[in-house]
Amino acid sequence: MKIGVVGLGYVGMITAAVLSDQTNSLICLDIDETKIKTLKKGKAPIFEPGLEELLTKNQSLFKFTSDYSALSDCEAIFVAVATPDRMGEINLDYVFSAMESLKVNAPSIPIAVKSTVIPGTADEIFKRTGIRVVSNPEFLREGSAIEDTIKAERVVIGGKNQQAKDIFKKIWEFTNAPVIDTSNENAELIKYASNAFLATKISFINEVSDLCEKIPGGDVNVIAEGMGLDKRIAPYFLKAGLGYGGSCFPKDTQAIASYSRKIGSPLTLVETTVKINNERVGHNLDRIEEKFGSFNNKSVCVLGLAFKDNTDDLRSSKAWELTLELQRRGAKVSAFDPIVKNATSIKIEPSAESCMSNSDLSIVATEWEEFKGLTANERVILVDLRGIIKQDNTSMTVGLNDKS
Ligand code: NAD
Repeated sequence: MKIGVVGLGYVGMITAAVLSDQTNSLICLDIDETKIKTLKKGKAPIFEPGLEELLTKNQSLFKFTSDYSALSDCEAIFVAVATPDRMGEINLDYVFSAMESLKVNAPSIPIAVKSTVIPGTADEIFKRTGIRVVSNPEFLREGSAIEDTIKAERVVIGGKNQQAKDIFKKIWEFTNAPVIDTSNENAELIKYASNAFLATKISFINEVSDLCEKIPGGDVNVIAEGMGLDKRIAPYFLKAGLGYGGSCFPKDTQAIASYSRKIGSPLTLVETTVKINNERVGHNLDRIEEKFGSFNNKSVCVLGLAFKDNTDDLRSSKAWELTLELQRRGAKVSAFDPIVKNATSIKIEPSAESCMSNSDLSIVATEWEEFKGLTANERVILVDLRGIIKQDNTSMTVGLNDKS
């Protein structure tokens, strides 16, 4: 098929790359012309394992453009533009703007919205443009996005136009994933309810982690292991640490919390999840200061800047929030991240070892695989705020009370 993808961020790029491997041809559009230039040179504008390889392998199947008229003879179009936070609420401007352009250039082509949008957005799009979109939310995780898309655990297709829905079902048929065929509103809410639930699991274990710190011998990693073996609970998203970050969970939990309050049915559990998450950096830094003294004038090495491993994404990164708070507390911060090499206002060291040896104290802030082998010694204080290093090799770790 000839498929259009509007918005070439993490979701749009991965959607296009994976669909190219199913021998579809792709018209990929973004209003960011720098991005289009990069793509035309055969380079991926983001880091995601396997992405550049697919772009190279299927080079002849891609066309990159900023011109919406190039979409006019597509058989289906995905919209994957950003839906960022604006003062605690979702900002749908990019979605509506993309839809206005599609109304002019592709009014009768089936369109699926992949962007995460609050319930009622498809209806609002119809009121504004007369286009009945299909809601096809995305569940990929950055860092394993290609595999997540190929081996999708479910395909959610919402909408009123069955013919359009069937086209998108066919596009994703190769995944063999179970399909939820439903209304736009249900499809839109499935995405938020999923993210809010996972975020709640993280805040839950973080609150248990704080409790463990007060109980002699308490160790949240053991608690999480014991809980996770129960199939009804499962071990995923039960890692205590700095809390959730990234481009989705923070804005999505906030957006669904304010949306639900606005329509008179507040999700108080999600509101609490957000509150707990907002306190993680402060809580952990207070704890470090209690044990090792004030950060004022200390040189501190932050290990990891991306919001999680295997990505270069800094959006709402807890590691980044941590560096800013360290600076606010008077620390001189340097950092090392295996992928992120540019960051304003902090010194980037060439390796974890050099960062650690030039600092009074080092903090693991992102769960990169290569940090798992790091160890504290007489000269290096190593605090693990992601719970990834063997406890004996650290000076301090999350959720552990060693005063037994
Ligand atoms: P992103 O910010 O990385 O990329 C969005 C792209 O859209 C940008 O390149 C931007 O230039 C482009 N854009 C904005 N307005 C446009 C317009 N009018 N026409 C064409 N292009 C336009 O965003 P992302 O991380 O890929 O997320 C996209 C959507 O998918 C969001 O709603 C997000 O919540 C959702 N989502 C993201 C992930 C993830 O892991 N990143 C996972 C699932 C769902």
